[in-house]
Amino acid sequence: MNITLAKTAGFCFGVNRAVQMVYDLVSSGEKVCTLGPIIHNSQMVDELKSKGVRVVENAQEVKNDEILVIRSHGVGKSVYETATKAGVRLCDATCPFVAKIHKIVAEQSSKGEVILIAGDENHHEVIGIIGHCVSQYYVFSNESELENLIENHPEIKEIPVSVVSQTTFNAKKWQKAQIFLKKVCTNAKIFDTICSATSTRQAEARELAATCDVMVVIGGRHSSNTVKLYDVCATLCQNTHLIETASELKVEWFSKANNVGVVAGASTPAGIIKEVIKTMSEILQPVDEQMEVVETVQKSFEEMTDEEAFEASLNSLTGEQKVCGTVVAVNASEITVDIGRGVTGYVSADEYSTEPVDLLSEVKVDDKLNLIIMKISDQEGTAMLSKRRYDAIAGWDNIVAAKDSGEVLHGTVRDVIKGGVVVYSNNVRIFIPASQATASRNDSLENLKGTEVDFRIIEIGRGRRAIGSIRSVLREARKEAEEKVWASIAVGDRITGTVKSLTSYGAFVDIGGVDGMVHISELSWNRIKNPAEVVSVGDEIEVYIKALDPEKRKISLGYKKAEDNPWTIFQSNYNVDDVVKVTIVSMTTYGAFARIIPGVDGLIHISQIANKHVAKPQDELTVGQEVDAKITAIDLDKKRVSLSIRVLLEPEVAEEVKEDEVVASTEDAVVEEVAAEAVAEETAE
Ligand code: SF4
Repeated sequence: MNITLAKTAGFCFGVNRAVQMVYDLVSSGEKVCTLGPIIHNSQMVDELKSKGVRVVENAQEVKNDEILVIRSHGVGKSVYETATKAGVRLCDATCPFVAKIHKIVAEQSSKGEVILIAGDENHHEVIGIIGHCVSQYYVFSNESELENLIENHPEIKEIPVSVVSQTTFNAKKWQKAQIFLKKVCTNAKIFDTICSATSTRQAEARELAATCDVMVVIGGRHSSNTVKLYDVCATLCQNTHLIETASELKVEWFSKANNVGVVAGASTPAGIIKEVIKTMSEILQPVDEQMEVVETVQKSFEEMTDEEAFEASLNSLTGEQKVCGTVVAVNASEITVDIGRGVTGYVSADEYSTEPVDLLSEVKVDDKLNLIIMKISDQEGTAMLSKRRYDAIAGWDNIVAAKDSGEVLHGTVRDVIKGGVVVYSNNVRIFIPASQATASRNDSLENLKGTEVDFRIIEIGRGRRAIGSIRSVLREARKEAEEKVWASIAVGDRITGTVKSLTSYGAFVDIGGVDGMVHISELSWNRIKNPAEVVSVGDEIEVYIKALDPEKRKISLGYKKAEDNPWTIFQSNYNVDDVVKVTIVSMTTYGAFARIIPGVDGLIHISQIANKHVAKPQDELTVGQEVDAKITAIDLDKKRVSLSIRVLLEPEVAEEVKEDEVVASTEDAVVEEVAAEAVAEETAE
């Protein structure tokens, strides 16, 4: 017994494309729902359901985080409008052949022409086509319905009419309808929109059924093209059976059979076809030991590897993997190109570029694209093409050349992976190890994600592996910037810089490619314990060059400004004999220090605190207390101010307070204070 399997069995181009789109969305982490079952095959729908793909009836059922896939049958215009209004994200998997019909009816009906549609008015594809008609339309499913239609509407004979067919319409019926229309409606423009995948499948089924004793048709019972295949076979072979899965096979069907033919609908997954063949082989083995499967299924798109598809394409095109195509249409997710020899090619957005791209603004009709053929179907006259793979091949040559020349390349950091980052440049994937990805080991790799970087190729490995270094470019740029800075700066220059880091003894400031240091004592006129009291990392501050040491490559910077010097402010605003309100800030055995203005403290000697004997300052004063005091002496050189409360209480003693005496009495205290400061600074250095 021979089992002959149709070459055309299995997914057609449009169904494969739609299913693939759903799988791609799922694997990219999207939550997906489809507007009706994606294909008329319950097993596949169940499989997708197990991956979380929901079937919805309308756009209103779509949840906020879901993307709605329009299946290959297509939908009417209003569905797009409703979805857009509801803010639903769409993935349009309408088969390009169906989309072409939408375009035809929309254009012709907008001119006021009557549209005739050959097909099943209840089929979703026909409902979708009707949804793009804006003028009068009629649907007929066979020649007699067409005759009745013309009889009831004789005006159709006289007015402009456009005729299209459902893509899966029976080829014979379509032929008859065309002959009739050409005779009766001489004005009719007939668009042959029947899909060649369908007609080829039906022709092959007819041929097989004419020579086989048993025909097995595999496919969904709700699939229109499967049912039509069954009809085609049943008219020629009485022993024809429609099954959805292998479990429905019955041994008795084959008891007297010599030749068994197997065909499958456009939405039948390859796995189910294989299972049917395998089961038939097993159950028929005892019946006929000589049984042989004389033809194997032509591999479907879903089964082919890229290499196999390419091999297949070599026979039908020029033998070249690369082709140049002319763009004939473009939408948000796909470009349609003419690559000659009657083959229409499709480039998905994913295959256009490694970067996310807005096809509508990037590509225009009539653009020429260099492409790689990934898969091709001679029977359907379609090809899946890739621009990014073409660019990657061309880009690889640039990468190799850049390794030899040391050229700096530009690219985008696409991913942070274990051990480094992945950069794409010239459409080629380049690995940058963590040690080569940033200027410093402390810099985060995560911050690089999505950024544009310059890098060099440092190694080319086997299997088109390229390794790059961002660090080498950063270091070079840093060195260049350093040289530029050193050549341009001079002591006294004022520069705006960015605080890069803080230590206990000062702040490091980037002044345009080179770091200088502001010592803690140069940050503020006030005494501070930590640089963070004045500046923070990332602050932009104005500094001036205090000193340069080109040999040691050290730059000392100043930050505090002369005009902010509290002694300058004090000198212009205060004089001896002024009575000032001061705040007690500290106490010693010989007196109390009081703040006159921030940065200038004066000493109230213990003898000047009160008009009586004071054993210790704490007996009369407390830290934080505000008191009135008279300035009795000022020594700007030594930065000393003497204060007295007592002279305010006993004006007559004012004369007795001799400047020399006061200054002498404060000297010990100041010396002690200066010494303490010096120790503090020395410790910090
Ligand atoms: S049968 Fe033809 S028109 Fe229909 S989905 Fe398949 S390829 Fe597209």
